[in-house]
Amino acid sequence: MRSRTSNAERRTLNVERKTTNPEETERLGESIGRALEPGIVVALIGELGAGKTTLTKGIARGLDVPDLVHSPTFTLIHEHKGRLPVYHFDLYRLDTIEQIEDLGYEDYFNGPGVTIVEWAEKIQGLLPDDRLEIRISGEDDARDFTLLATGPNSQRILSRLAA
Ligand code: ADP
Ligand code: MG
Repeated sequence: MRSRTSNAERRTLNVERKTTNPEETERLGESIGRALEPGIVVALIGELGAGKTTLTKGIARGLDVPDLVHSPTFTLIHEHKGRLPVYHFDLYRLDTIEQIEDLGYEDYFNGPGVTIVEWAEKIQGLLPDDRLEIRISGEDDARDFTLLATGPNSQRILSRLAA
């Protein structure tokens, strides 16, 4: 049988990065933040302590958010003002999909800012088709980042980053 490349596969782009300490992860985030455009959704996937919030802090810095204060509250969505609005979803405490539907998540995805989603796998079915997916794994202080663009807009961001 002949193998064929589907349209979906053709549209994806993959970038791998490694870091060895939190500061380096923040710097990676910063470069991602500088490349972002309005309407991009960044989906972060990785277990507790993987470095999602650390990366998010860097992304926020790259978007000129003065200080990403991440207080341990039960708030699922944090809004920040940078060169673009930043909508930070931390879904660690999300129990049901309805909770995020009630918060009008689509208004954020389609809003004038960028959305960063920690624990994105919890709302897999609600994520936009075109998103920048970042999977984080590792042990000790080493972290592997797999950045995957799943559509034309996220692909543009990733090509800029890879350049
Ligand atoms: P998450 O939001 O995924 O639960 P955090 O960013 O809050 O994770 O925490 C990551 C933890 O791992 C922090 O304690 C950080 O100091 C530590 N760490 C060690 N090495 C790294 C690295 N290379 N990148 C990011 N965090 C790291
Ligand atoms: Mg976190």
